[in-house]
Amino acid sequence: MEKIEHLGIAVNSLEEAIPLYELLLNTKCYKTEEVEREGVKTAFFKNGPNKIELLEATHSDSPIAKFIAKKGEGIHHIAFAVSDIKAEMNRLKNAGFQLLSEDPKIGADNKWVAFLHPKSTKGVLLELCQERDQ
Ligand code: ZN
Repeated sequence: MEKIEHLGIAVNSLEEAIPLYELLLNTKCYKTEEVEREGVKTAFFKNGPNKIELLEATHSDSPIAKFIAKKGEGIHHIAFAVSDIKAEMNRLKNAGFQLLSEDPKIGADNKWVAFLHPKSTKGVLLELCQERDQ
């Protein structure tokens, strides 16, 4: 695993959270993107080397809606950059970690993504992400 690529924060409303984070980080949101399959709308911010992803549910079955119903708004996941997501998934699977999918999926911001179940990581949802070739 390489650096932390971004932090994911679950919010009730991007409309409300985007201006708040623009004010907080003193930088404009550089991208919003819907990932339909995952039932989320995302908004991205860069602040120096740091990246933040805000996530809003697009329907009540969305994992983000379920997360907020259970825990409220807040930090949802930590994403690590990897250079070979398949190899990293295999390494972690062989080491006994529980992955949420067999294969990487197409995520927001031009990434291949895979998630580790919080049960196997002391309660933290971890995302692996690898830049997709354009
Ligand atoms: Zn993410």
